Amino acid sequence: MIAIYPGSFDPITLGHLDLIERGCRLFEQVIVAVLQNPNKAPMFTVQERLEQIRRSTLHLPNLEVDFFDGLTVNYAQMRRAQVLLRGLRAVSDFEAELQMAHINKTLSDQIETVFLATSNEYSFLSSSVVKEIARFGGPIDHLVPQHVALDIYRCHAKTHPT
Ligand code: ADP
Repeated sequence: MIAIYPGSFDPITLGHLDLIERGCRLFEQVIVAVLQNPNKAPMFTVQERLEQIRRSTLHLPNLEVDFFDGLTVNYAQMRRAQVLLRGLRAVSDFEAELQMAHINKTLSDQIETVFLATSNEYSFLSSSVVKEIARFGGPIDHLVPQHVALDIYRCHAKTHPT
């Protein structure tokens, strides 16, 4: 069974990575699909995000990293995937995730959304929290892969030269 794990991944965090690793144990193939979202002003380009995810997942042979735009279900159909994988961190995620799952079901009833509960240690973690901490010079090495932390610091050095 093929599962798509769609998201912005701007940037990938250890929470995403935990979900990816667990997904790779459950499904024959997992495709991390980076969404090109024209409504969000991202910190990293899609190419940079793809590279960050690839570098973080070299140890996972059944993982593919790709990008898409448009409807997730269309992309899933194109890739012959049966499952959309999503993470649930807290009740706050629940409403939007449930709505999206229902909407996707109306678009294609062949595709099921599967939710994995976040591991405890990452239940507070989001890409935005990481960017917020980094903006104020706080430590982020325990929240993202090391090379991603370096990318974030580099990005800040560029936008806030001392
Ligand atoms: P989106 O913009 O689609 O919310 P994200 O990159 O923020 O994209 O998240 C993609 C998916 O990863 C979502 O299902 C989200 O719930 C899940 N996720 C985000 N952070 C974590 C985390 N810390 N642990 C597990 N899952 C997470």
